[in-house]
Amino acid sequence: MARAVAETVRLIPRQSPQKIAALAREEKPQAILWDSGPWGRRAAPQAAALLQTGLCADCTLLETDGESLFMYRPAGGGSLTAKIVCRTSPQMATVRTTRQESGQVMVAVGAGAASALPQIRRFVRENGYSLAASRALVDQDVLPYQCQVGLTGKSVCPAVYIACGISGAVQHTCAIRQAGTVIAVNADRNARIFAYADYGIVGDCAEIFG
Ligand SMILES: Cc1cc2nc3c(=O)[nH]c(=O)nc-3n(C[C@H](O)[C@H](O)[C@H](O)COP(=O)(O)OP(=O)(O)OC[C@H]3O[C@@H](n4cnc5c(N)ncnc54)[C@H](O)[C@@H]3O)c2cc1C
Repeated sequence: MARAVAETVRLIPRQSPQKIAALAREEKPQAILWDSGPWGRRAAPQAAALLQTGLCADCTLLETDGESLFMYRPAGGGSLTAKIVCRTSPQMATVRTTRQESGQVMVAVGAGAASALPQIRRFVRENGYSLAASRALVDQDVLPYQCQVGLTGKSVCPAVYIACGISGAVQHTCAIRQAGTVIAVNADRNARIFAYADYGIVGDCAEIFG
């Protein structure tokens, strides 16, 4: 089973779903892949409806046997991975891309580190790192959605990922699988994140970053 999909790949610029559907009717591609950013998420379902085909959203892995496209996506709240085949043509998927952040070190802030956010921000700024967040902080409007790492946020692959006050729910860790070294700082020595991290620091984020 190959992980690279097609013999002939054509990259097309962003244009209206109507134009992409017309092009697809003309050229009859086996598959159309869309990015899973805001544009892809909006345009892909419209094109799928126009072409009367199926669409698998938010795929994290694609495989092919040369004919069928096997699309993998998180299911069951992120604890399972579903393998999906589309019986209609063209086969369509929006595909998650892992964002290469400019900083090689990313510091992620969770609910347990909210009170240390000013100090963590300074630490990030002074060292040229990038800032990320768990959904808990984004839901509380402490940090913007662009910072959210996880199943319903972005996937990231920094060389070093420092998770501060993050419990390590699967909906968060599923998006840091491609990170290099994961360092966790958590007050609870039994936090799930320690089972995932390469290095762990048991402690209070306010004290450590204070
Ligand atoms: C469908 C679905 C999609 C989701 N998508 C996402 C997603 O994209 N991203 C995401 O992150 N989550 C997502 N979630 C939510 C996820 O399940 C968790 O609820 C969330 O990740 C928890 O965030 P948290 O770890 O910051 O907070 P908590 O679970 O509240 O954990 C806080 C941690 O901080 C520690 N702590 C407390 N005080 C301190 C201190 N002073 N110093 C150090 N540590 C301390 C605690 O021990 C605890 O481990 C999703 C859930 C669902 C159901």
